[in-house]
Amino acid sequence: MITASQHIHRLAGSPDVDQAEDVSGICATCAAKIKQGVPISKIENPSFSQHSDFLRYSKYVCSGCAWLYWSGKGKPGNFIAAGERYDQLVISHESVVEDKEPWHKALLRVSDMPLETLVSGVLTTDVKPRLWPRTKLATVGNFGLYVHAPDYDLSAFVSFDLAECLRISTLMRDPLVSGYSKSSIYHGLLTDYARSSKYLSQSFGWETGLKACRDNPAFIPALLISGVTKEDKKDVRSERPGKPVITAGTSGNQHSAPQLELF
Ligand SMILES: [Zn+2]
Repeated sequence: MITASQHIHRLAGSPDVDQAEDVSGICATCAAKIKQGVPISKIENPSFSQHSDFLRYSKYVCSGCAWLYWSGKGKPGNFIAAGERYDQLVISHESVVEDKEPWHKALLRVSDMPLETLVSGVLTTDVKPRLWPRTKLATVGNFGLYVHAPDYDLSAFVSFDLAECLRISTLMRDPLVSGYSKSSIYHGLLTDYARSSKYLSQSFGWETGLKACRDNPAFIPALLISGVTKEDKKDVRSERPGKPVITAGTSGNQHSAPQLELF
């Protein structure tokens, strides 16, 4: 069985890793059995943190881990390795980075893959911490990602149902289009008194649907991958003629957290 790092490296096209030596043992980071490894002295540098967490099993790392360590500051950040592809992703639906696919689109694509397809990924609102050593190998049918979202007190590998995640995300669409913040969706729509007064009848219905899912492990991943585009707002306007739609950012919600959507 391969490890998450080996899987990610393989789907990235197995880029060559210099400075590997013939060794016999296990990778210091992912514990893969290895015949070639990069000495950890080549990985460490004065700014290397979490030494005892990540370089604990031996004196060498496998090619996959070495490649990931050397991928650069803030990288790979948000990513998924599934099927034949390794992709760096963004949370925003209207990506500011053209070559990166939004999470929501990537998960829709992955949900169509066979259940036994191997998957590994990190979903994060902050690309600075090195999170990839903490993720695990999952499958489409037994899904999971490392999820880092300090705003919601979460930094852990989360096992969740991929179809449920996408279903819950659809429940979040109308509230988001109507200008509710992600924080309000997390804490309860009625915490945004001004907006729930304005959309009284819809808000109770939306809140009932969301409340039933807040304990679902897929809820926070769904919240992170959810978002709206200008087109979504136009769609809702045309679906509901005469109904005013307020754009995000004009919320009267005092609990509003910054919308961490860029990564
Ligand atoms: Zn490794």
